[in-house]
Amino acid sequence: MRVYNTLTRKKEEFVPLEEGKVKMYVCGPTVYNYIHIGNARPYVTFDTVRRYMEYKGYEVTYIQNFTDVDDKIINKANEEHTTMDVISNRYIKECFTDADGLHVKRATHHPRVTEEMDHIIEMIDELVKGGHAYEHEGTVYFDTKSFPEYGKLSKKNLDDLIAGASERVDIDEAKKNPTDFVLWKPYKPGEPKWPSPWGEGRPGWHIECSVMAKRYLGDTIDIHAGGEDLIFPHHENEIAQSEACNGVPFARYWLHNGFITVDNEKMSKSAGNFFTVRDIAALFPYEVIRFFLLNGQYRSPINFSKELMESCQNGLERIKNCAKDLDYYIKNAQGDTLKEGENEADIEAFRTQFEEAMDDDFNTADAITAVYELVKFININNKAGVSKAFAEKELALLLTLTDVLGLTVLEEAEEGEDTALIEELIAKRTEAKKAKDFATADAIRDQLAGMGITIKDTRQGVQWFRN
Ligand code: AMP
Ligand code: ZN
Repeated sequence: MRVYNTLTRKKEEFVPLEEGKVKMYVCGPTVYNYIHIGNARPYVTFDTVRRYMEYKGYEVTYIQNFTDVDDKIINKANEEHTTMDVISNRYIKECFTDADGLHVKRATHHPRVTEEMDHIIEMIDELVKGGHAYEHEGTVYFDTKSFPEYGKLSKKNLDDLIAGASERVDIDEAKKNPTDFVLWKPYKPGEPKWPSPWGEGRPGWHIECSVMAKRYLGDTIDIHAGGEDLIFPHHENEIAQSEACNGVPFARYWLHNGFITVDNEKMSKSAGNFFTVRDIAALFPYEVIRFFLLNGQYRSPINFSKELMESCQNGLERIKNCAKDLDYYIKNAQGDTLKEGENEADIEAFRTQFEEAMDDDFNTADAITAVYELVKFININNKAGVSKAFAEKELALLLTLTDVLGLTVLEEAEEGEDTALIEELIAKRTEAKKAKDFATADAIRDQLAGMGITIKDTRQGVQWFRN
């Protein structure tokens, strides 16, 4: 498995720290609003990375934080005359609704800043004691000059950064270097506060991820991921904090997803050009959003458009129809052994194609192509009438590969209370058709349509599904 590592700007063979195990940290959202589909991209991308790792047999520990202390949350709480907790609890819940809808598995832990305060203070304290941070009137800064490798992820040179930053007028006089960043900020009226050795206050943003990764995964982790806008300064600062504190490399592989754009501009809350997952989910099923996000390799930008969503919806429908037809075929097919000319290797070739795509830095676009080709193969084969044994192998592979992508292409048959009635009506319609009583047959079809049931006549009999 080869992954593109932002740290080296190269695709590298993935070798975990500990055999068979993957320790993975993905930066999570600041919870003050619904997530937009740009925010959903790291969710779906790295959930798919996790699923593929699990498919390959790795045991994955997956950590994703919630930033529940932040200016934006405080402002929203003030606007609504309520507390920060009310806002963050509300949007954590909404975030899970969207993540569940997108089939994003829950992380092993979802730590929250407010619940990790002691550990955050502990790490800042260690940085101060180790000479990597200093305090000025209640603010604690990280001393970037104390970490000579600062800039190694974003490939920025510290002296250039300092020179660049020095030209700006709004430099914080208290900082030793213009590149230094805040670890702890003092209390201001109207803001939440926690006691600390530097007075009451709250943590800066970057420190939380260093603390949570260390606490739940250890000093060195395998994969650290997030959107590419996090490379600088957030991830650069995380590296500085963690490596200065722990004295060992922080993350072995840094993975960053590209942007979801609108008219080729990054979708963002501040630019106002965003669509929330919730709004899109009112127009398209959640799984179409997931499928859309997987239709490009994760590092390439994807331009959001209704046309692309529609084409993804059609593509997903094609896969689902194949699974449904195949499932129906199996229920009615015969032949527990493979027939002459039915080779398992013909099916397995699509698994190889899928794995080759995923092994090449999780190329989900090519992996989806492999799924489409499997679908084409199945559709052609079944017309020719394959054995039940062969059809079962086809379906098993189709379900396995789509599951790695987090797609459920075959819903378990719903056993509604009206199932018996539906089947009875279908039987009556079949009889009516046999008796050439088409008026009755059509009336029954209409009756079923009124119940939200669509029927389809196939060579193997009548298939039905709920709309
Ligand atoms: P934020 O709430 O802005 O901190 O973003 C949460 C996550 O979404 C981070 O990993 C960001 O890098 C990512 N992200 C934000 N906007 C986009 C976008 N337009 N496309 C892809 N990822 C994004
Ligand atoms: Zn982070």
